[in-house]
Amino acid sequence: MAEAESAIPPPEAGIGNPDLPIWQVMPQVMETLKNGNRLSLISETGSGKSTQVPQALYAEGFADKGKIFVVENRVDVAAEVARRVAREMHVPLGSKVGYVTGPESRISDDSRIVFMTSGVFKNIIRNDPSLSQASVVLFDEFDERYLLSDIGLALTEKSQGKGGDAKFVLMSATLNAAKISEHFPGIPLIEAAGRPYPVDVHFSDRSVREDEIPREAARIVAAIHETDSPGDVLIFMPGKSEISRTISELKNLNLKGVSVMPLHAELPLAERARVFEPSPERKIIISTNVAERGLTIDGVRYVVDSGQVRMQEYDSERDIAILGTMPCARDSMLQRQGRAGRTAPGEYYSLITRQEYESRPTETRPEILRSPLRSVLLQIKAMGYSAEHDPIRLMDMPGKDQWKAAHQQLRLLGALNPDDEAKLSPFGEDMSELGCDPRDAAMILQGSFLGCGRDMAVIAAIRSANRKLLPTPAGERDAAERQHRKFFVSDTSDLINHLNVYRQAEINGFDSNWCRENFVSFPALREIRQAAGDLMRNAGDLGYDMESRDAGEQTLRQAIATGFPDRVFHYMVGGWYQNLETGQRAKLGRDSVISRAQRIIANDFIRITTKEGEELPLISAATVIT
Ligand code: ADP
Ligand code: MG
Repeated sequence: MAEAESAIPPPEAGIGNPDLPIWQVMPQVMETLKNGNRLSLISETGSGKSTQVPQALYAEGFADKGKIFVVENRVDVAAEVARRVAREMHVPLGSKVGYVTGPESRISDDSRIVFMTSGVFKNIIRNDPSLSQASVVLFDEFDERYLLSDIGLALTEKSQGKGGDAKFVLMSATLNAAKISEHFPGIPLIEAAGRPYPVDVHFSDRSVREDEIPREAARIVAAIHETDSPGDVLIFMPGKSEISRTISELKNLNLKGVSVMPLHAELPLAERARVFEPSPERKIIISTNVAERGLTIDGVRYVVDSGQVRMQEYDSERDIAILGTMPCARDSMLQRQGRAGRTAPGEYYSLITRQEYESRPTETRPEILRSPLRSVLLQIKAMGYSAEHDPIRLMDMPGKDQWKAAHQQLRLLGALNPDDEAKLSPFGEDMSELGCDPRDAAMILQGSFLGCGRDMAVIAAIRSANRKLLPTPAGERDAAERQHRKFFVSDTSDLINHLNVYRQAEINGFDSNWCRENFVSFPALREIRQAAGDLMRNAGDLGYDMESRDAGEQTLRQAIATGFPDRVFHYMVGGWYQNLETGQRAKLGRDSVISRAQRIIANDFIRITTKEGEELPLISAATVIT
């Protein structure tokens, strides 16, 4: 990251900044950690958790025997907060204070306070299970509950059980204290009140339609800019495409004296660092949730929040991981608010109404519950742990039967080493690197061997999209269905027909007019295209050939089948299909093109309620196997 040091005046002598609210509880924090080995610490965003607690621990001698580790969920936060702490301690970054992230590190042998990402921490503790290097591990923003930080914490607890000396602290502004105490009975809890500066909160007075969000955000920015009051603006958008649309909306408004910059994880680090550099013009930073937590961008007085996030959810009924733009929970929006009001009073503009805000869930669900358990198990095995040999105790841990089922799925998908199922097969290891549902991973990697990897990546992206690619708007249902049928080239697989929609859209340049005429959802297509691109890049990076080779229908069906070995259904009587392994029964939905096939794979389910009020499971997408 760029050197922005000279822009910030050094704090007054001493450790850190004793005016920050967290110092009111610091003696208690030190006392608790001297006498015990765990603590949960809650205080408002901006109160000084990330920058002050490590310094106080250092001053108190906690770094004499081991290092102070600070585990962050975000690369940018690890680097930026380390930079800030080094500066407050008047030491060069990379000396006493350093950081290690996947993409880069600045650290030396004498580093005593080390900021790192949860991925790096996981590797450290894997190689050194007793955590002999560390005296204290601070899990920052722990309530975000990423799988990697959950696993890191579970392993840290385990190190204590094995006689390790490392203590841990869970830090957050919005920690669910009851849940933490349930998991760690008797854990001390310290709460500090107050944030450094107040933030005025404004909700929208009308509902903003999803496709209007970029324009509405730009309009608010223009209104802020017109007031001539100083301060940079940070806008939260769900993804890259909404960021670009907001940038074009801002361009249309032709504002003078502003400097517009995007911020998302795919930008190179040097470009991301620009947002921290002072600018003579008003900075308008448009970011995904990479800037949602942990960062102080000095100069930001205004936050504009779309109230949306791009993330993964898990639909247990359909057993599908859904990736897409979704409404974010309140904890997320509170964190976004917290980005204003860190170095001066701030203003927060939400694009949703107060009523809508109040109807949102309070907490984002933990990642372990937002993923199919087979994904979680695949990750845990990829790290060298297994329920059989080396179980770990996670929060929100699913029951034994669910783990068993997940294990069986991984076995059928070919992810496990047949000689030792605690380990992954080479195929399973590649699957774990792909970052998607193991079903899709198997389909894509096998597809690559069969010359249709690209097609499978598209099918995987369509499967996990949270919008329907082929919507049937009320009132135009018949017209839409007629148009949709024109895309149907296969009578043996609904997924192949969906793939054909994508191929036709591609031939037509992903054009929005073409989409409208054909009743294809343009926003869905945009998301699918992005997701498929990500999957292809990941598989390509692993050395898989992702060219498409015009595979025939038979080959496509074969590749699809790789992802669903546990979903084979046989025709029974009266329109019913049955899974002979599980006994599950279902009928084929009317959207499926398949009729009268003896053996099918159920690719997707829906549940409908009949006129008689009965719940009926339907197979909404299927593929014939012979
Ligand atoms: P928390 O982790 O509790 O959200 P931090 O420890 O990150 O808070 O920051 C505490 C306060 O220190 C911020 O509210 C801000 O006032 C100040 N601060 C931190 N980093 C910077 C920075 N890079 N530039 C200016 N002020 C900063
Ligand atoms: Mg913080």
